Amino acid sequence: MSSWLVRIAHANGEKVQSFCHHEFGQKHQIWNRDIDRLAPDWLLTKLCEKTATPIERVRQTTLKRYEGILFDHTALSGVEKWITPLRIYHRTRKSHGLQFCPECLKEGNEPYFRTQWRIAFHTFCPKHNVMMHDRCPCCGEPVVFQRIELGKGNEETACDKPLSTCFNCGFDLADSKPEKAIFWNNDTSARWGQLLSGIQENKLTRYQSEQLAVLHQFVKLLCSKVVSEKLFDFMESKFRMVLERPNFGLRHFEANDIIRRFGIIQCAWWLLSEWPNNLKGAWLDGAVRYNHLLKDFDGMPDWYLREVGNMNINYKRREMLKTLLMNTNTSEKK
Ligand SMILES: [Zn+2]
Ligand SMILES: [Zn+2]
Repeated sequence: MSSWLVRIAHANGEKVQSFCHHEFGQKHQIWNRDIDRLAPDWLLTKLCEKTATPIERVRQTTLKRYEGILFDHTALSGVEKWITPLRIYHRTRKSHGLQFCPECLKEGNEPYFRTQWRIAFHTFCPKHNVMMHDRCPCCGEPVVFQRIELGKGNEETACDKPLSTCFNCGFDLADSKPEKAIFWNNDTSARWGQLLSGIQENKLTRYQSEQLAVLHQFVKLLCSKVVSEKLFDFMESKFRMVLERPNFGLRHFEANDIIRRFGIIQCAWWLLSEWPNNLKGAWLDGAVRYNHLLKDFDGMPDWYLREVGNMNINYKRREMLKTLLMNTNTSEKK
């Protein structure tokens, strides 16, 4: 929606601020909130009327389209599940929540920003198989296209700039270097891509929705400093590689930068893979605990509860089970 609104203003030869004052009146503030997440009804109705676009289509340009898919109800404050936060204070963006694929920006008649680029799970572009970006590669500032025109020149030159222009240094974000997305295993990339297209087309199977719920439980766990330390150690020894830790100061997985989120999701996919063996291995090693796996997890799938339910045993019995399994494996190998 925000991208569309700026393009409408420019197509009318006006700066977005003057266009909005003009069309919606001085009393209506727009850019002091995350309009893609919390577009007020009056804005949807106005856009529907003025552009002769069906209201449903207008609503589809906002993140509300993912209600019931990624999150249950739109929360008026706080961080929405699976949605990258923008943290808008006095119209200055403090976090790198708007992602983009440089290859997608090059397509079509003019660059524009897609609704799905705010999904925290969308860390690579499945179409071009490249990493998404979340900042200008030249100056490191986040994408804030409604500020491209601020205080610079007259209406005409301000409106000529493509939406892919960095508001701070003027670099064309479409020229950002495409970097191939590298997955720890191919199976993950295929399943991840299918999940992304299922989300976009609202065609997730029941199993995929359940996978998504479990993945979110895992990413939450991985972003908790106290809980995740042993788990990261365990996975590092398993994969024989150094894993970047989340930014624990941010509290939410969704607020992490793209590189960290990409790594965290891969860890989560691994825990879900070869179900339930990988998770069980982590649990036997003492890297995850029964109560953490269930903590604040509403609507967990039966297959998850069934396996995690078996992990409700004390340390001694777990150690016995571990020895037993190790012995079985050794004798099988023999
Ligand atoms: Zn792309
Ligand atoms: Zn820049």
